[in-house]
Amino acid sequence: MIQEESDRQERFLRKAAQKMAAETARFLADLREREDYRPEFEPFLEYLADASASAAARRGARPLLKLLCVQAPLELIHAAGFHPFRVFSGSLAASALAAGNLPALTCPLLRAVLGELLLDASPSAAWILPTTCDWVVKFPEMLRLAGVGERPEIEWLELPRLKGRADGRERWLTEVWRLKEYLEKLAGRKIERKALRESIGAYARAAAVRQKLRQARIEGRLPPIWFMLVMSAFFLDEVSGWTAAAERLPPVLTKTREIAAARVFLAGSPIVFPNFKLPLLLEEAGLTAVADDLCSSERIFPGTSVIGDESLFGLVSALAGSYHQGCLCPVFADNERRINNIFNQRREAAFQGVVFGVLKGCHPYDLESFALEGPLKAQGLKFLRLETDYTQEDRQNLLTRLEAYRGTIGGSG
Ligand code: SF4
Repeated sequence: MIQEESDRQERFLRKAAQKMAAETARFLADLREREDYRPEFEPFLEYLADASASAAARRGARPLLKLLCVQAPLELIHAAGFHPFRVFSGSLAASALAAGNLPALTCPLLRAVLGELLLDASPSAAWILPTTCDWVVKFPEMLRLAGVGERPEIEWLELPRLKGRADGRERWLTEVWRLKEYLEKLAGRKIERKALRESIGAYARAAAVRQKLRQARIEGRLPPIWFMLVMSAFFLDEVSGWTAAAERLPPVLTKTREIAAARVFLAGSPIVFPNFKLPLLLEEAGLTAVADDLCSSERIFPGTSVIGDESLFGLVSALAGSYHQGCLCPVFADNERRINNIFNQRREAAFQGVVFGVLKGCHPYDLESFALEGPLKAQGLKFLRLETDYTQEDRQNLLTRLEAYRGTIGGSG
């Protein structure tokens, strides 16, 4: 009986793994068929062909440290000798795998993550979890409920939700310094000032090429979907590997393409490979997402920190500051930075509207979408909120709404 049960479970997992592989292969094949495909995108398609933790571990020489959200300074993890690997998933097949034992309205992204962990329990030294949204805070419970065998060591980072308060900033610095000490214990060695400076340099180089790609997107030399795909692969290799592949792009992105005149800003819940339903529908509706504030795309890592004091403490403080103050996550109580960022980007990217995608169950972004609508409209921006999940069932309905929205923006498609 027990043998029968485990055979049935094994068949179930194997079938889900086949579905996931087919989902990915189909999307990659479609991408290679696109008119705007270029061979320089190939390294990123190869990364995404196997976005699992075990594949990332094979690609690099450093042991993985798993993350969900990006408030833990990547440079610090890197300076301790680890590969910060963000566990993210846009797989419908994986999401279905974990659904049975979870609340119906669970964050689709985390449900897919749990499904992937059921299929790829490659061990990691530990998980670093900032206390962002309620689903993330309940992640260890969700691991148990979903039957994920791995019982990882979890290092929590208590994320102060008031960025504007001095004591909040001090508490976050204490948390980040404590993370440094934890990483040193895990690595069995001290994080030297020189090593941290070099890691900051490695991520600054990645931020510099991201900026060039961002500019190419705004100017119509890089289609939004390829920008988002390149960024999606950011954690799938060591930062130096991703940066080297990304730096081969700007020199070839010379030709300005005819892009739809209806330019929009894409905001909201993360969009993770292979769930690119919304970016593809935007294209189909004749809308060009010339910029975004997604933590899975433009904001997948904060970028350069302002360093005044070159001491080890000075470097750690600068990192703590940029990862806390620079974060736009809607879990913060005082988050004016998000709307200000949209207005700043509008001056640069000249978009006429904001499309805000919300994953069903993603309460922080759901609330944020209601809070932003009025102030954005008051500044003349057309606003559209779309609630969706990983299935294709609402595809036609979303497309109809996007086409109607494009009509309000004017500009020919
Ligand atoms: S913020 Fe939203 S998308 Fe991110 S983990 Fe929480 S519920 Fe999921």
